[in-house]
Amino acid sequence: MIKHKFAYSLGTNRIYKDGKSKETIVMYTGDANSALLLSLVKQGMDQDSHRRLQIVPMIVSIFDELDEGKLHLLHQKALNFTEIFPWPWHFFHVSAILGPISTLPENSSISGTENIPLYKNLLASVASNSARNELKRLLFDLLLWRIAKLCQVDKVMVSENVESLSNISFNALCFGRGSSLSDLTSVIDKREPEVAFIRPMREIYDKEVHFLNENEGSSQYILKSTSQNPIIFDDKPVYNGINHRATGIQTLTSDFLSSLQTGGFPATMTTILSVSQKVVPLNKDQDHKCLFCRIRNSPEKEKILAEPKCCLPCNNIFKEIKSDDDLALLLKIIRN
Ligand SMILES: [Zn+2]
Repeated sequence: MIKHKFAYSLGTNRIYKDGKSKETIVMYTGDANSALLLSLVKQGMDQDSHRRLQIVPMIVSIFDELDEGKLHLLHQKALNFTEIFPWPWHFFHVSAILGPISTLPENSSISGTENIPLYKNLLASVASNSARNELKRLLFDLLLWRIAKLCQVDKVMVSENVESLSNISFNALCFGRGSSLSDLTSVIDKREPEVAFIRPMREIYDKEVHFLNENEGSSQYILKSTSQNPIIFDDKPVYNGINHRATGIQTLTSDFLSSLQTGGFPATMTTILSVSQKVVPLNKDQDHKCLFCRIRNSPEKEKILAEPKCCLPCNNIFKEIKSDDDLALLLKIIRN
């Protein structure tokens, strides 16, 4: 049943039908969701011929670990999986986005580690946790688009599930990104026309991810502790058994939605996703897209913004960057 949701998402959206290209980047971060995604792709490809998932996968593994020693360990562990999943593997650190992305790394190295100090400085110069987490999410998406373009692959399979997408949906509202709700939470996300994000786990819950990982052996591919969205949240050390996460809109949203879901409103997240996919922008003009988040921009608003090629919510993030040098670096990367 759970696996059926995965196959159904791909089948009903005709993602690999009608002669569409089979090359696909499968994104792996080492969290529980991406561990299951690897496993489901492999199982799909191992099926008998008429049900086989017909794709040509390449794994792009992106780590956000800032401690170089721990990063090295993550890489070493992940290298053990390259024989189980015998496809091309390419390792990046998320800070690769701060430099040129012109060559694919061999799997013996991680691209972008030289930019970790720059990335730390950039994050440190953001005034609030909320904006910092949002900036991390935006940089991650931008990096994935650029890697896909470098590989000349037009599909990237990502591992967001019901909980993470519900959180993203609520956070988007808080940051004034209401018009991109459908793109951010649909199975196919075409904000960037040349590269689609595919979300085959959109209907799968955290508890189902946990169940399959534990019962089918894919928990061995989990390299870091699971939070509902490890890319967004800053996890701080655990004291007295309590995980003191950095406060911000994202943590408040997550706690609020979890409390509803477990406190007598079990359809909360399903309802959010159902509504979100119906919220589409009125402005269909593809010429006015934000350079950073690819949200459709209003041509009238563009003229009054400090950074006119970016949308108002992204301009609001830029305003929170205290260091002029860090802001200049970020804008250079975005305009690239
Ligand atoms: Zn934007």
